[in-house]
Amino acid sequence: MILLQDVSKVYANGIYALRDINLEIARQEFVFLVGVSGAGKSTLIRLLIREELPSTGDIMVAGHNVLRLSKRHLHLYRRKVSMIFQDFRLLPNKTVTENVAMALRVANRSRNDIEKLVPETLALVGLTPFADTFPLTLSGGEQQRVAIARAVVRKPEVLIADEPTGNLDPVTSAEIVDLLVRINDLGTTVIMATHDKEMVNRARRRVVELVRGKIVRDEARGTYQYGRS
Ligand code: ADP
Repeated sequence: MILLQDVSKVYANGIYALRDINLEIARQEFVFLVGVSGAGKSTLIRLLIREELPSTGDIMVAGHNVLRLSKRHLHLYRRKVSMIFQDFRLLPNKTVTENVAMALRVANRSRNDIEKLVPETLALVGLTPFADTFPLTLSGGEQQRVAIARAVVRKPEVLIADEPTGNLDPVTSAEIVDLLVRINDLGTTVIMATHDKEMVNRARRRVVELVRGKIVRDEARGTYQYGRS
């Protein structure tokens, strides 16, 4: 599903953000990406969503060579690979339903599809009672659920979560990770960058740890040993 071969990223200022990364992630895996601030997690994510290009190496995701995507294929690619963020990034003046529907509208999906998929996805994330609510009246955990619904309503092959529990209390964070695990069980490959030690230890999923741009640990059912470098 995802294959990085000998990937390095040097920014224009000469900083090596990633060095010789070799990483294979199978379809429907759940992977935690851990490491201290500056370790290279965001850079790796930006390469996966093709916001940046690597300096050297090859990246294959969901059948695409990410380095050689034409403009048209980049659109298709971004439908297969969805993202959620720490700060939710919802549209405050649109209801929950409209926020989620937007992801289908920009992909030119039919009204029938929208009317079917949006309620289905809101039910999946447990937000049916909030369908007509505006995001800012919701709790942080509920807002992240809206963001997750928006990210998965197009049924992506890969969901990338960048510190999705960074603004949430421990109980709410656990609920969000449980939801990501459920989405993973339904067939989506999930990559979650996190500092949240409790979450990683509790979930017992694959852990890939970066230190200064290098993979120093790749464990099938790992724990968080952060700070060990
Ligand atoms: P993390 O997400 O783990 O905090 P980053 O990928 O953001 O790590 O950063 C890795 C290294 O690359 C850091 O030294 C950071 O300062 C540097 N870096 C990140 N983005 C840029 C950029 N756009 N230009 C120059 N250096 C960058």
